[in-house]
Amino acid sequence: ARTLKIGLIPGDGIGKEVIPAGRRILEALPASLGLKFEFIDLKAGWETFEQTGNALPEETVSILKSECDGALFGAVSSPTKAVKGYSSPIVALRKKLDLYANVRPVKSVRGPGVKPIDMVIVRENTEDLYVKEEKTYDTPEGKVAEAIKRISQRASSRIATIAGEIALRRQKIREGGSPSIHKGPLVTVTHKSNVLSQTDGLFRSTAREALAAGRFTSVAVEEQIVDSMVYKLFRQPEAYDVIVAPNLYGDILSDGAAALVGSLGLVPSANVGEGFAIGEPCHGSAPDIQGQNIANPIATLRSAALMLEFLNEEEAAAKIYAAVDANLEEGKLLSPDLGGKAKTEEVVQDILRRL
Ligand code: NAD
Ligand code: MN
Repeated sequence: ARTLKIGLIPGDGIGKEVIPAGRRILEALPASLGLKFEFIDLKAGWETFEQTGNALPEETVSILKSECDGALFGAVSSPTKAVKGYSSPIVALRKKLDLYANVRPVKSVRGPGVKPIDMVIVRENTEDLYVKEEKTYDTPEGKVAEAIKRISQRASSRIATIAGEIALRRQKIREGGSPSIHKGPLVTVTHKSNVLSQTDGLFRSTAREALAAGRFTSVAVEEQIVDSMVYKLFRQPEAYDVIVAPNLYGDILSDGAAALVGSLGLVPSANVGEGFAIGEPCHGSAPDIQGQNIANPIATLRSAALMLEFLNEEEAAAKIYAAVDANLEEGKLLSPDLGGKAKTEEVVQDILRRL
């Protein structure tokens, strides 16, 4: 049996309500998978900042680094005004653990009259305009602000490579009999190299080169300029399998894609590095519904499954996805964000039963 050590970082607000559900679904996986879990509770977030003056205690980082195979991160609240000493713990974690890929699957619930959507957006997580090298200076015509957009061959190559690997893995799952709207693996490389010929040009050519590797011969590769990508994403979302993009475009595309399938409470993500993954629901701490036991736990349950995929436990992940899909397709026990009346606990119970 393999034992996975998982750090649990609930954070603030509904993070505290959904992360325990993530733990329970991992514990409820059938013993036949030969998988055991050890959990370590870790602190981060706004409450932690108020208590300790640090939103991401050093202990959290060192335990993740030295002891854990993966982690589940809930959500953190951020102050509405800039507060001295506070910075987002998940952004810091991505940096400290070199979690270079942000992976977001977006999938619609099967049903009559529903447009089938089943895509994954793979966003580069370490560079582009998000290196945050900005400056402002005065000119006779007023202030001017500038920012550096940094694109490297190394980061572009590894993000395209992981996108190719995700496409292959999705194909393998399809061949295993999961119903799918896609015929074969496809990676769409998104950029704006018609205007930004050097930065996005380098992203484009490097991604192309990485995806031309021998092990990706079965993967179809196409390109889409980012503005027309948005148009097509909304007109024809069913056409996309894996989309890979530099940081900024990926950020925008992934929030937009989440809107195609309804509630934020459904959409998972993973922050992935070499041999490490943090599952993280896409939603925030949702203070408007906190403490009412009505938060949708599904984004977190799917994030737990996504984390398992990147820890090479695909079979376990598939079981969680299937149990969640069955709950949604039956549509009897849904949380209020999906138009239902079920409490968080009832949704969790229903999904655990299906596992
Ligand atoms: P939010 O995602 O917390 O909430 C947006 C809306 O979606 C709210 O109406 C909320 O009730 C609803 N919602 C979100 N998740 C849900 C779930 N699981 N089930 C049912 N409904 C759900 O975004 P916000 O309101 O803009 O931000 C609230 C706080 O969260 C802020 O402090 C913000 O900075 C923080 N935030 C954190 C993260 C993160 O930790 N990754 C991401 C986004 C926002
Ligand atoms: Mn975003």
